[in-house]
Amino acid sequence: MVPRIRPSLIGLPSYVAGRKIPGAALLASNECPYGLLPAVAARLAGTTAAAFRYPDMTCGALVDALAAHHGVAADRIAVGAGSTEVCGQLLHAVVGPGDEVIFGWRSFEAYPLLTAVAGGTAVRVPLRRDTLDLDAMLAAVTPRTRLVFVCNPNNPTGTAVGADDLRRFVAAVPDDVLVVVDEAYREYADPALVPDAVDLFGERPNVVVLRTFSKAYALAGLRVGYCLGAPEVIRQVRKTQTPFSVATIAQEAAVAALGEVVEVTRRARRTVAERDRMTSRLRELGYDVPSSQANFVWLPLGPDSAGFADQCLAGGVVTRPFPGEGVRVTVGLADENDRFLDLAEKLR
Ligand SMILES: *Cc1c(COP(=O)(O)O)cnc(C)c1O
Repeated sequence: MVPRIRPSLIGLPSYVAGRKIPGAALLASNECPYGLLPAVAARLAGTTAAAFRYPDMTCGALVDALAAHHGVAADRIAVGAGSTEVCGQLLHAVVGPGDEVIFGWRSFEAYPLLTAVAGGTAVRVPLRRDTLDLDAMLAAVTPRTRLVFVCNPNNPTGTAVGADDLRRFVAAVPDDVLVVVDEAYREYADPALVPDAVDLFGERPNVVVLRTFSKAYALAGLRVGYCLGAPEVIRQVRKTQTPFSVATIAQEAAVAALGEVVEVTRRARRTVAERDRMTSRLRELGYDVPSSQANFVWLPLGPDSAGFADQCLAGGVVTRPFPGEGVRVTVGLADENDRFLDLAEKLR
């Protein structure tokens, strides 16, 4: 006998992780290319001895540090093992069997998987010109809708929605529907163009903002993410975390990383300059590249996407293809980006 699996899971594609090929330029996973922050490396060296104990389940020191960082009370923050776990926690807090979860598509590939795991029904709203179509997402809201993901900037297209559009959207969504603004790439976005949803909706009980240490804070391997929201929501979201999911070294590293804001900003600026250089060059070569507010660029190559990514791989550059749609290329170190641009020129 084979155990019976939920039908809603069977048809779903698995999460595709970027390949780690020694010697290749790893431009598939939107990681920070500059390595651990210096203070994080120093802190990690001193914390491994405590690993035989369970971690602080409440992530108390980290939550306090985040509260100070954002200038909010500690009861407005919930932490998880990466913001992917926090996405799941939010879903488990509000979604029951058959409830609907809306998100743009294509967007973060974890949304449909986590929605299915939570027992919800995914409602994918097609992007318009590679950008979230907030009007169409609003039109998709029904009495069964419990949660809407707004990925801003959007992964994998890098495009963002502005403050006015987002404000209008949130004002029109019913108060009992949770709006989750996923700001995983916040540090790479131009604050004049892309709103900070913490500033915009800090007091609104049905808006939660997701942030992560995996991208600009260069901690993808230690798994720390968090959300900011109203205390009554945060209290419930904390209950849906897998107990002890954030390891002690991850908590310590995240606290140390928060103390390195100057270096984080410096690195993010460098990545933004490289991103804009890649975008200009790719457009010069005739590629259609939407303006990115994140640490990657999107090439909407349609049917050529898989072949293009294969050719890059053969040339020693790992990218992330979405077959039939496009290829996402993470902004790496300058020489890695040059390797990619050389290939892009040859493949034109
Ligand atoms: C990378 C990413 C995350 C962060 O994932 P972690 O679990 O924190 O590593 C969240 N949302 C989006 C849209 C992302 O691209």
